[in-house]
Amino acid sequence: RVKERGRGNFRFYQPQMNVDLLSRMKMDHAMRLGLEQGLFSLHYQPQVSLVDGGLLGAEALVRWTDADLGQVPPATFIPLAEETGFIIAIGNWVLAEAVRQAVAWQTSGKPVVVSVNVSALQFQQPDFVDRVADTIRQAGLEPALLELELTESILIRDANETLARLHALADLGLSLAIDDFGTGYSSLAYLKKFPISKLKIDRAFVMGLPQDESDRAIVSATIGMARALKMTVVAEGVETEAQRDYLRGLDCESFQGFLCAPGLPAAEFEVLAASLPRGTVGPLL
Ligand code: C2E
Ligand code: MG
Ligand code: MG
Ligand code: MG
Repeated sequence: RVKERGRGNFRFYQPQMNVDLLSRMKMDHAMRLGLEQGLFSLHYQPQVSLVDGGLLGAEALVRWTDADLGQVPPATFIPLAEETGFIIAIGNWVLAEAVRQAVAWQTSGKPVVVSVNVSALQFQQPDFVDRVADTIRQAGLEPALLELELTESILIRDANETLARLHALADLGLSLAIDDFGTGYSSLAYLKKFPISKLKIDRAFVMGLPQDESDRAIVSATIGMARALKMTVVAEGVETEAQRDYLRGLDCESFQGFLCAPGLPAAEFEVLAASLPRGTVGPLL
């Protein structure tokens, strides 16, 4: 049972809820401190061509290592940050840091297209487009070297405002991808309307390949639809050669997954990148 703590303005009905709230408050505090103290970093996971095994780009994945909590997985702190609104500060930091790294690779003569995850709350900020524009312009980044990964949840609200914003972003010269495709609210109407150039098939559907019949159907239908809409496809979470070979057989352009590499610190990513040829997207696009 929870003990009465004296300054209890809250009533807790279950001991577990008390622990959860307390640890969430602690984590929120630690997270804010961590960003301030430079304890956040980005890892880069290669996106690899299924045509020639070459490098097509890298997804920037945020990492946070706290002195007490250790490495906290994004799946734990991102949802909390989305609830509290702190995701906006994190997102701004991630954008600036990913652009800084992309400029460093551009300057080195070995440019890499860097994909940045954008949360719905971040996308909805009135200054989001201006911030992206300012960030790449001030850094001197070739806009084609930046891709933004949006989730389906971004695309379903306020269609007109969203459409205008997506076009403003695309007009900057960067590219837009839909992340975790197939896991959100499936309205296919937006795919036709929105200036999206890439679909990322969620790992949940890749996991069952090649055995699972419904996963095969979903993945093959998604690739067929993307093809018809002139979008490229990245399969997420490819761990086995059997999955990779099956996807290649479906003319999927590219994959990301532990089969090639997990997210890596920039220096390790560079070593891996140096061992891969420059990828081609394939004859279709
Ligand atoms: P996501 O954007 O779908 O990123 C892919 C996740 O799958 C990453 O997890 C990556 O490490 C993991 N992954 C990649 N290949 C494999 C594989 O072969 N097998 C398995 N089991 N996993 C694989 P991570 O880095 O833990 O990130 C989880 C999620 O957190 C991301 O999913 C994304 O939604 C969110 N996230 C990460 N970084 C950021 C960020 O900078 N901003 C925002 N808003 N969200 C982020
Ligand atoms: Mg992503
Ligand atoms: Mg994803
Ligand atoms: Mg995913």
